[in-house]
Amino acid sequence: GAATPSPDEGFQEEEKKVAEKDVARPIQIVVANEEEHSFELDEAALEKILLQDHVKDLNVVVVSVAGAFRKGKSFLLDFMLRYMNSQGESSWMGGDDEPLLGFSWRGGCERETTGIQAWSEVFVVDRPDGTKVAVLLVDTQGAFDSQSTIKDCATVFALSTMTSSVQVYNLTQNVQEDDLQHLQLFTEYGRLAMEEIYLKPFQSLMFLIRDWSYPYEHSYGLEGGHAFLEKRLQVKQNQHEELQNVRKHIHSCFSSIGCFLQPHPGLKVATNPYFDGRLKDVDEDFKRHLGELVPLLLAPDRLVVKEIGGNKVTCRDLVEYFKAYIKIYQG
Ligand code: GDP
Ligand code: MG
Repeated sequence: GAATPSPDEGFQEEEKKVAEKDVARPIQIVVANEEEHSFELDEAALEKILLQDHVKDLNVVVVSVAGAFRKGKSFLLDFMLRYMNSQGESSWMGGDDEPLLGFSWRGGCERETTGIQAWSEVFVVDRPDGTKVAVLLVDTQGAFDSQSTIKDCATVFALSTMTSSVQVYNLTQNVQEDDLQHLQLFTEYGRLAMEEIYLKPFQSLMFLIRDWSYPYEHSYGLEGGHAFLEKRLQVKQNQHEELQNVRKHIHSCFSSIGCFLQPHPGLKVATNPYFDGRLKDVDEDFKRHLGELVPLLLAPDRLVVKEIGGNKVTCRDLVEYFKAYIKIYQG
């Protein structure tokens, strides 16, 4: 009928709004140039996000999700956006038939770039202690297909770890030895850049294991994750020195380390090319644990303000830190 726009018209409407730039969306702030192995910070884009009048002087909470392509990071971030947009409603996860929008918006047609994206809207949250904080959501990704790109990846990961208060390290199925080695490389890059700081250089690291399939060994969620990680990161006497060092290094870098075991979302999510994120196609178990995970990271009483060298950082400060840190890697 004339009253309801066709999906096509709806899409065009959406395109128009985005073109007019009044719609919140992911903004590329750090781009890796894969041919030259160089990095660029889009200062103007970052300033536009962080120097908005209503947030620039607030302490900032930076929650970043990092890891390889095609592992469900954007999917998770889209639910984080729903949580941030729902203002504490219990039904934040959304209706059964709503397609997911946000970081994955139009993801299919855009070339995937190694780098850092931030959500253009900075959320202002009132914490139970009466303070207001600004929450920035960040998506960090890279590919691990050759030596040179591993180095680029390490730089991007280091930058995002240095600038976030919570880094979610998104992995699938298990924590492999090379995931730990990558983490060591990533954090070594960051540590070198922050040499002058004697405290632990980074704040909180959350291993997020997707498609966890051993719930009978370690149960889904945070507690199972804790037990699993404890075992995986244990330093043992008879272990090869290299394996011991990776583990010691990771412990020495972060003030807190956690792990969350997330169930498989079901075959529609994993394999159907027409899946658009609606909840009715997502397994119950996945939704239940997603309902635990997102508030663990983003509930007002759990938000962790970004600190550098023991000082709290505002949105305005964060811009300067980004500029200083990118220089180190442009060397
Ligand atoms: P990104 O590149 O890491 O941001 O990955 P996306 O969020 O774009 O997701 C890549 C694909 O994985 C999509 O087809 C999603 O539907 C699917 N997906 C999302 N979450 C999961 C998950 O937890 N497990 C599996 N197996 N697939 C997922
Ligand atoms: Mg993505």
